[in-house]
Amino acid sequence: MDNIELESLLLGDEPVDFLLEVLLRSVIMFCFILIALRTSGKRGIKQLSIFELVIIIGLGSAAGDPMFYKDVGIVPALIVFIVVVGLYRTVTWASGKFLPFEQLIEGKPLYLIRNGKFSIEDFDKEDLSQDEFFAELRINHVEHLGQVRNAIIETSGSISLLFFDDKEVQPGLPLYPDLYHKKSIEIHKPGLHACAHCGNVEDISKPKTCTVCKHNEWVLAITTLRRT
Ligand SMILES: [Zn+2]
Repeated sequence: MDNIELESLLLGDEPVDFLLEVLLRSVIMFCFILIALRTSGKRGIKQLSIFELVIIIGLGSAAGDPMFYKDVGIVPALIVFIVVVGLYRTVTWASGKFLPFEQLIEGKPLYLIRNGKFSIEDFDKEDLSQDEFFAELRINHVEHLGQVRNAIIETSGSISLLFFDDKEVQPGLPLYPDLYHKKSIEIHKPGLHACAHCGNVEDISKPKTCTVCKHNEWVLAITTLRRT
């Protein structure tokens, strides 16, 4: 590689003193981003909804280019920022006023487990794998599905859980790999088994398909109480 190629690799088409300008541009854009996010009214970004992600992407691309492209000015970026943050605030305001609008923009919370039963239809609608969901439950100290009364996936993607009281805990599908991976289409001893696909519990003594979801792998149900 000769010198000329190396120079264009490092500096592009710009002269060395443009680097100083990049420094200044970056500081200005950094301040823009900070001000924009502070005026958006959002307090943190632990969980972003799709709508908020759109805003972040919009701001991000408007902020990046003026930092290092000489032919991109600061003012157009500033206008993008004002428009995007203005839209965000307007839509957030409208979502608070009109529920159908909120559901259109943000989606709505869906039941994954209702009264101890998997809500398969909602589960299929969500792009959430069973593995991810089980991991989420384990993080919340759930050992088997019989401990969970309701699970709801919020629009932010986080999962809210309600538990059965100790005396209401039902036999359920074990979620820890050691037991869960013993799932099998064979039934080794008669008794309460949980469907490995949907968590439906049946008293069975020989191989059969689940009456709820028609899959045929079973795991021995367990009834341990929830300890945190
Ligand atoms: Zn099933």
